[in-house]
Amino acid sequence: MTDTAATTRQRDLDEIRRQVESERDRLEQELARLKGAGGNGSGREAPFHEHPTEHAGEMEEHERLQAIRENLQQMYSQCNEALGRLDRGEYGRCRSCGSEIAIERLRALPYATRCVPCKEAGRE
Ligand SMILES: [Zn+2]
Repeated sequence: MTDTAATTRQRDLDEIRRQVESERDRLEQELARLKGAGGNGSGREAPFHEHPTEHAGEMEEHERLQAIRENLQQMYSQCNEALGRLDRGEYGRCRSCGSEIAIERLRALPYATRCVPCKEAGRE
């Protein structure tokens, strides 16, 4: 057995990469599906106005979808950023102090760019 801490960490990072990649694929599909569902800006005005209450409901639905889409879009960007950092070998290092971010933290939050102490100290 020649498993060093470094190779163990590398294996964990590979696992996280697969996790992030499948998450990105899922988000991609989700975003495509939401686009297909309409509600992208002023593209689809509802032709019926006889039911003002229903219309108000649609507006809420529209805003809800918009919020979901923005959230998904943000998560999608975070996935891509994380994958970019993995490619550059920067992944898993704290952006503030440069120390390794605990693998448990990365598992729970694959897009974390700061270690817990820096995060808690509010360091940039
Ligand atoms: Zn740090």
